[in-house]
Amino acid sequence: MPNTKTNDSRAGFWSGLALWKKILVGMVLGVAAGAIMGPDAEMLKPIGTLFINAIKMLIVPLVFCSLVVGVTSMQDTRKMGRIGLKSVVLYLCTTAAAITIGLGLATIFTPGEGLNMAITDTTVVAKEAPTLVQTLLNMIPKNPVSALAAGNILQIIVFALGLGIALTLSGEKAEPAIKLFESLAEAMYKLTEMVMKLAPYGVFGLMAWVSGKYGMDILLPLIKVITVVYIGCLIHVLVFYTGMISILGRLNPIPYLRGLLNPAAVAFTTTSSSGTLPATIKAAQEEMGVSKSISSFVLPLGATINMDGTALYQGVCALFIAQAFGIDLAFSDYVLIVMTSTLASIGTAGVPGAGLIMLSLVLTTVGLPIEGLAIVAGIDRILDMARTSVNVCGDLMVSMLVGKSENELDESIYNKPTEADTARI
Ligand code: ASP
Repeated sequence: MPNTKTNDSRAGFWSGLALWKKILVGMVLGVAAGAIMGPDAEMLKPIGTLFINAIKMLIVPLVFCSLVVGVTSMQDTRKMGRIGLKSVVLYLCTTAAAITIGLGLATIFTPGEGLNMAITDTTVVAKEAPTLVQTLLNMIPKNPVSALAAGNILQIIVFALGLGIALTLSGEKAEPAIKLFESLAEAMYKLTEMVMKLAPYGVFGLMAWVSGKYGMDILLPLIKVITVVYIGCLIHVLVFYTGMISILGRLNPIPYLRGLLNPAAVAFTTTSSSGTLPATIKAAQEEMGVSKSISSFVLPLGATINMDGTALYQGVCALFIAQAFGIDLAFSDYVLIVMTSTLASIGTAGVPGAGLIMLSLVLTTVGLPIEGLAIVAGIDRILDMARTSVNVCGDLMVSMLVGKSENELDESIYNKPTEADTARI
């Protein structure tokens, strides 16, 4: 006879575990499965794909509804402008800081030295930088329905902002539509919660695939780049972000670090900050206490334009490639890297691997060999995991600072005692 009691208590143990712990278990088991199965672990990938598809399904309706509600709940459009400005300034400054950290570390640790790469024929085609005018024009959707269908987040943001403002200005007549968006947004949050329950299994499948595919052998020659990017990411979150939270936000950074675990784990494994958006919004509201109106406005914007991890990675990789090819860079080149990486990271879509494509833009601007991309491409997924997590942590941090400055951060939620604290009492 099966031991139902043990089975029950095992099931109870699993279901009682916090989501991030389940995700962690999924991650560790996934790495182990990949190490044991090698390339065969590819067969576990569909479990991960299922989770990614489910989360992608949420992005467009969630961003659209929550942004419209974000604007309408703000009531006054002047406040929206103020919050938008604060967010963009913080996003740009933190991104510039991230590249500087990346450049600093790559200068100290010289990950590319000794590789002695020679410039041969290049097979990777550089992405052409769109002009500023083009970028601005492209933000306005000629057809909002096709923007929604294509999932063009920047265009969706512009349309949702316009619609939200128009609904607010329309007064009483627009009330039923506002109510409809409110209830749709609520339903999308619920659906997010349901999809997030799949995260531990999806993460297991994805990690098994990644560790099975790359193995340790291929990693070794590039381990220095990986280490430098990971150290940079840790410094950026653990020193820079917590510093900003303590100094600018005058808040204890510990609850922030605790609250970012779920979204960071999802970002780490899905390597998509747009894909992680549902988890990020949930964490901002339920763990950090950021109001719905701030989080549903600042976070979709951040997932689209704020890419600190990507910028940091571009700084490290640009120097790595310069070192690998034995090219000396002048101070003006460093300044150029900071500027182009900041702009490139704004233009980077929050999807897997987008940063690598934008790296080609940085390399061409600085005059570095594009073929360096091919070396980085082999380990890009591993770098993408770290940079996407930082991208998401940065969005959360900015949403907190903006929330705090607008008196829309509920400190009783932010400082709420953890399960461990309660148990101790
Ligand atoms: N995967 C990153 C993100 O979604 C973008 C990148 O490739 O750097 O945030």
